[in-house]
Amino acid sequence: MEQFVFKTNSSDETLEFSQRLGELLKPGDVITLEGDLGAGKTTFTKGLAKGLGITRNVNSPTFTIIKEYKGRLPLYHMDVYRLAESEEDLGFDEYFEGEGVSVVEWAELIKEYLPESRLVITITHQGDSTRQITFEPIGSRYIQLCKELFE
Ligand code: ADP
Ligand code: MG
Repeated sequence: MEQFVFKTNSSDETLEFSQRLGELLKPGDVITLEGDLGAGKTTFTKGLAKGLGITRNVNSPTFTIIKEYKGRLPLYHMDVYRLAESEEDLGFDEYFEGEGVSVVEWAELIKEYLPESRLVITITHQGDSTRQITFEPIGSRYIQLCKELFE
């Protein structure tokens, strides 16, 4: 499987890069984010939201699993960390099949609900402010998207 790698040395670099991804997104796109606590999943989502034209601040409130933001396209931001044990289905399909863009933090915890075709992003913590961000596109839409992003 083809992989694309982006190395970042600061949160600003991450924000800039994910903003560009946000600008390229289309209705129905699904992006999953994996990586430890503090890896930068929410930071990445903030930039992506900006690229979608969202002006509200995106954060990860402790008890809200799914938050919707209005922009050029709606953003469905999910942080499913708290579902870890229950693996409850919160009607994920309606989001994944909706007109907006879905971004799922801790997606590995709800594998059974994820669509096959998606962009899998893994962030690895390297140093204080260095991260390796790996993009694994599954399906032709996401291969095309990664090619545009990395060209
Ligand atoms: P997560 O959602 O994965 O738990 P957050 O995005 O909430 O992570 O937190 C990441 C933290 O790491 C933030 O405080 C951010 O400023 C910091 N950080 C430092 N360097 C980077 C980088 N290169 N990319 C992203 N975040 C970074
Ligand atoms: Mg987070």
